[in-house]
Amino acid sequence: MAQLIIHQFPCLQDNYGFLIHDPVSGETATIDTPDADEINRQLAAKGWQLTQIWNTHFHWDHTGGNTALKEKWDCKISGPIAEGDRIPGRDVDLQEGDVVSLGAHQATVLETPGHTKGHIVFYLEKESVAFVGDTLFSLGCGRMFEGTPDQFWSSLSRLRDLPDDTTIYCAHEYTEANARFALTAEPENAALLTRIEDVKKLRLAGQATVPTTIGQEKQTNPFLRADFQTIKDQLNLTDAPPARVFAELRQRKDHF
Ligand code: ZN
Ligand code: FE
Repeated sequence: MAQLIIHQFPCLQDNYGFLIHDPVSGETATIDTPDADEINRQLAAKGWQLTQIWNTHFHWDHTGGNTALKEKWDCKISGPIAEGDRIPGRDVDLQEGDVVSLGAHQATVLETPGHTKGHIVFYLEKESVAFVGDTLFSLGCGRMFEGTPDQFWSSLSRLRDLPDDTTIYCAHEYTEANARFALTAEPENAALLTRIEDVKKLRLAGQATVPTTIGQEKQTNPFLRADFQTIKDQLNLTDAPPARVFAELRQRKDHF
């Protein structure tokens, strides 16, 4: 099977756009639609035709380009069933375990509620790649707009259980701000300190800190480490269950 080509580019203020292209079938999908004009520019530069849209959740910076892109390309739109009508132009409703295909490449749908109630992740197991939208960021996670701490923690735990070498494409460049907060949760985490130095260098050079990997996030991202004693102690929640620790982290980050 020919390799899947993944093209990442900045969009809007701090979003990333992702186009995935299968050279065998000629199919191209965009993961979310932050900005139709920018997506069209990137498609033109690559000489690709858009055939599909895969939406992670309904927020405007993820679906705002759906209508314009569908008008131009007549592409098929797949999104989470739980957000049904809030996904403009949707053709296919996706739920846990469903498979979406781009040529011979297949993504499994993982439901990861928390940021929104219906948020989904596209996991391409053979390619060791996951498009995680606003569920997981490098050194952080999405705001908890609709879910509960139990839901969000279990969503993040599922992502944490993916193989360490899984490449994680998150939808925003928030890593530097996340790093400042992560340091307050785990000031002596050596892997975190190293990652922060790398992030500073990347950003100074105008480069992206996305993608990341599950292995890296497991070692550095406090929101994936709510069951670690170092973090529990730092928050004075020594005996608390992880979802409670996660809730505290999320709340502190909201007010950081
Ligand atoms: Zn969002
Ligand atoms: Fe977003």
